[in-house]
Amino acid sequence: MRVAVLKERRAGETRVAATPETVKKLIGLGTTVAVEAGAGRTSGFIDAAYAEAGAEIAPDAAAALAGAGIVLKVRAPLGAGEGEVDELSLIPREAILIGTLGADAAAAAAYAERGIEAHAMELLPRITRAQSMDVLSSQANLAGYRAVVEAATTFDRGFPMLMTAAGTIPAANVFIMGAGVAGLQAIATARRLGGRVSATDVRPAAKEEIKSLGASFVGYEDEESRAAQTAGGYAKQLSPAFYAKQAEVVAAHIAKQDVVVTTALVQGRRAPTLVTAEMVASMKPGSVIVDIASDAGGNVAATVPGDAVITANGVTVLGYRNWPGRIPAAASALYARNLLTFLTTFWDKEAQAPKLSPEDDIVKGTALTRAGAVVHPQFAPAAAA
Ligand code: NAD
Repeated sequence: MRVAVLKERRAGETRVAATPETVKKLIGLGTTVAVEAGAGRTSGFIDAAYAEAGAEIAPDAAAALAGAGIVLKVRAPLGAGEGEVDELSLIPREAILIGTLGADAAAAAAYAERGIEAHAMELLPRITRAQSMDVLSSQANLAGYRAVVEAATTFDRGFPMLMTAAGTIPAANVFIMGAGVAGLQAIATARRLGGRVSATDVRPAAKEEIKSLGASFVGYEDEESRAAQTAGGYAKQLSPAFYAKQAEVVAAHIAKQDVVVTTALVQGRRAPTLVTAEMVASMKPGSVIVDIASDAGGNVAATVPGDAVITANGVTVLGYRNWPGRIPAAASALYARNLLTFLTTFWDKEAQAPKLSPEDDIVKGTALTRAGAVVHPQFAPAAAA
């Protein structure tokens, strides 16, 4: 079985889907691994390191993909007209494609038409057995860390209380909005840097987690928020009346903050706007807002996705996209391990190939296509019936 690792070509993507460490382990399973030249360059993994791990360095995507049975990607392969290489057309029929594919119905149909067995790792169920393959968690964790570090370097004072002979600089007030995987890591990081940290969330379970990390909870709770968590652990979309109440509580708090990090997502929807233009206007000059939710439209009215802006009242809003891609070596290392674990979990030693049983809950979650058909219920409702 030949495994192909491609260079990521989508704008702003700095990560890579396999590292020398995971290449070695893939070869240990009995595979041969082809890594496209330069695939790890932007995340600090040079071709020589892959070669040393036993990979063949392929000069281009076509050479890497020739004869591949498994294709590892961070993002979806480029299709015709999407870039300088039509990666999709180079993937052999029946190959297993694994990545955060962000697919829609049209993309799923294209994989089916080309006979590719596509697995979208972002659709992995959040079950205990799948934790070590959970790319959303591994990447969100690093995004939360990175967001706070960038906030600290952008902030024109300091996070800890600094007592010096020349006087005292007070600790920064840091407010984390959304206490899922990214938010909890942001709380921990801001605490380590010495900030005075508070946080909010709508899911009742999050309140205890916030407190257990030593941050104070600020938020509005009512009957609606007590039922705000789906069976899968995600936040539900709540009513306009709830969001209005939440905004009231948050508005008073935000005016006193030096740093705000927003991470709130509602699965399958645009990110909720939690920080309005008025709230931003109420903040002190020099304050910093980091919007990790910018890929989903952002939690902050002033966010310009993909950019950093300074508002009229001197607040810097970092709305960069792809926060895990801003810490690419660590993000790639964890992402690559997630994919390796996915493969080893289903590895059939005798066949020296993964046995992705359609009955398995993890496979049911990730499989978009199989044998030329779209099989995921999200994209083929008829097939699910
Ligand atoms: P997410 O990225 O979907 O959202 C981030 C956070 O934003 C969530 O905590 C959510 O409640 C919060 N949020 C949404 N609307 C909000 C609002 N209006 N105001 C404030 N906060 C708001 O979430 P996630 O980080 O992927 O985590 C979701 C859940 O999944 C958590 O319960 C987490 O513990 C759970 N989880 C389970 C596993 C597992 O068991 N394998 C793995 C990872 C995460």
